[in-house]
Amino acid sequence: MSIHRWLSALLLLAAASHACAGPADAQRAAAPGADWPAYGRTPDEQRFSPLTQIDQSNVARLGLAWTQTLDHERGLESTPLVIDGVMYVTGAWSVVYAFDAASGRALWKYDPQVDRARGGDGCCGVVNRGVAAWQGRIFVGAFDGRLIALDAGTGTPVWSVQTFVDPSRPYTITGAPRVVKGKVLIGNGGAEMGVRGYLSAYDANTGELAWRFWTVPGDPSQPFESPAMAMAAKTWSGARWWEWGGGGTVWDAISFDPELDLLYFGVGNGGAWARTLRSPGGGDNLFLSSIVAVRPDTGEYVWHYQLAPGEQWDYPATAQLTLIDTVIDGLPRKLLVQVPKHGFVYVIDRTNGRLLSAEPFTKVTWATGYDLATGRPLETPQADYSATGKATLLYPGVVGGHNWHPVSYHPRTGYLYFGELQLPSVYALDPAATWRMGKRRVNTGQDFGAAVAHPELQAEAARTTRGSLLAWDIVNARPAWRVEQKVPLNGGTLATAGGLVFQGATEGRLVAYAAEDGRVLWETPTFGGIPAGPVSYAVDGRQFIAAGIGWGGALSIVFPDGATVAGLRSPNRIAVYALDATGVLPPPPPQDRVLDPPPATAPMEQVNRGMLLYFDHCGICHGSGGGGVPDLGYMSRQTHADFAAIVLGGARADRGMPSFHEQLDTEALELVRAFLVWQANQLKAAQQATTGVPASGSEGTR
Ligand code: CA
Repeated sequence: MSIHRWLSALLLLAAASHACAGPADAQRAAAPGADWPAYGRTPDEQRFSPLTQIDQSNVARLGLAWTQTLDHERGLESTPLVIDGVMYVTGAWSVVYAFDAASGRALWKYDPQVDRARGGDGCCGVVNRGVAAWQGRIFVGAFDGRLIALDAGTGTPVWSVQTFVDPSRPYTITGAPRVVKGKVLIGNGGAEMGVRGYLSAYDANTGELAWRFWTVPGDPSQPFESPAMAMAAKTWSGARWWEWGGGGTVWDAISFDPELDLLYFGVGNGGAWARTLRSPGGGDNLFLSSIVAVRPDTGEYVWHYQLAPGEQWDYPATAQLTLIDTVIDGLPRKLLVQVPKHGFVYVIDRTNGRLLSAEPFTKVTWATGYDLATGRPLETPQADYSATGKATLLYPGVVGGHNWHPVSYHPRTGYLYFGELQLPSVYALDPAATWRMGKRRVNTGQDFGAAVAHPELQAEAARTTRGSLLAWDIVNARPAWRVEQKVPLNGGTLATAGGLVFQGATEGRLVAYAAEDGRVLWETPTFGGIPAGPVSYAVDGRQFIAAGIGWGGALSIVFPDGATVAGLRSPNRIAVYALDATGVLPPPPPQDRVLDPPPATAPMEQVNRGMLLYFDHCGICHGSGGGGVPDLGYMSRQTHADFAAIVLGGARADRGMPSFHEQLDTEALELVRAFLVWQANQLKAAQQATTGVPASGSEGTR
């Protein structure tokens, strides 16, 4: 990976922000375990399968039962649902597929026809994390804001509503809805781009709006929507915070406790990131970076816990909320556990929102720990980069110590399984930043050029980056075991009653570990990365393990997966495994591409300006070129010639490359191209120095 890949990894990352989520109904979830009827299987989102046919003694006999290739290569983040022998899964562009879960036979497909020219509206690609199901209906949140109910048998739309309150703002949906007590819950993403977050609940039968919970206050000259917003507004300051949007998007985590009748959801990071821009007089900025508990029937506020008051590091509280009942110090506890980007495992009493423990699971330098009496972090002085005005390297960085990737809990071991990531970022305030209205504009208030001026920080980041699969002992609040991994950023996990933990390794493997000690018991090549957690289900008494292969979204900005490194272009595909199945997953075809840039002739002053423009407008999708988005270093001579027609003229809008004519003029375009040409020549020289032969068609050295 060249230094400039690192720059895009370290600077750009608006991280995996976005949309929201959803379990099917609680009744189905109580079924014996053959189905995977909801996003986290059950409303407590433990992602634990009680099936036992596949266990430690026989997992080595797993083989490929079936595979299906999806239409697009933009990343597969979807958790498949399986109900009564049918699998429902989403691909890129919010397309829904139904397959026979035993044979893989395609049953139906529904494409909501999202305008491909909107591909750049979001921070992190056109991925989708899955559907919700309820009483013969399938619900999908489309990238463009529509919540659509489908007939589960035919894929025919039953109703559709637009969930975005202000289409002029750069909202997007990538998350899975949940259904709780007959209501479909859906949020959205866009905190990096400049929106005001909220969670909506719709009647599952009719699509009628039941309630909406705003997460940050709007213009205080207008009436507040709820008592919760009046409370939140007291924690914001400055004349015009609402112009930036505020952030606080609800883009992933939703779980439900039917006994307590509490619905829990995670609220995203602030927009802008820097608190001096967002709320110049200080304040906690509720409900940014908070877990909120509400009544599912009404959306009425019950309690909240804020992980990072005045959050300014792109630390959303949107990671999975896992509900666990256990005994700690002799007392039965109803816990809510979250492993978010902040780098701590938060253990919360879910009856009242009190913090019970917050222990670091990775290197953390923004806070030294938590005061359990107040529930507040002990922030380090250097963490407040917007007050000090200094560029600062902090752990975790904007990708987080752990991101949205699903975690799983095994009730027998008492361990929570997740991918840990050690990857710092340089944070720096852009004091001149102002809100820039319009889509495809990143509104973080960050000086993304700061890291360029600090090569020593870059070097430290490159030297210390690593990652592991971690089993975390919930009762004792400490690691139980850890497996260091080859590529730092890995996918979600699945725990099963067969004593197994499944996880995709980003270099291109699906691996089964022993739940109690992390021994590798089985693995199979998948060639590409597996972002979401695998699922398990049974049809006619036969147990299956299903994984979605398809690196993309924000992940591909940070680290290339195995396919990308090998110069392959992996399709997005579902791979399903069972005991004694004999299929073999075919490798993806090689990419037909050559590193053949024009000579670099522009002065470095122009290259540097072009680099900053690239980070601002392009790198958020094209960062590492993986996951189905072209690596611009490999542009052909013809693409160089057509560059203005593509970027300004929208010549490839139908393929998801929108026009940037509102953001870039001809001069800026040439600066971007000067940077790309210079970078490609650097990469070509590096490859030649490493291999001794001219590079073509391979990215093996990065
Ligand atoms: Ca974010």
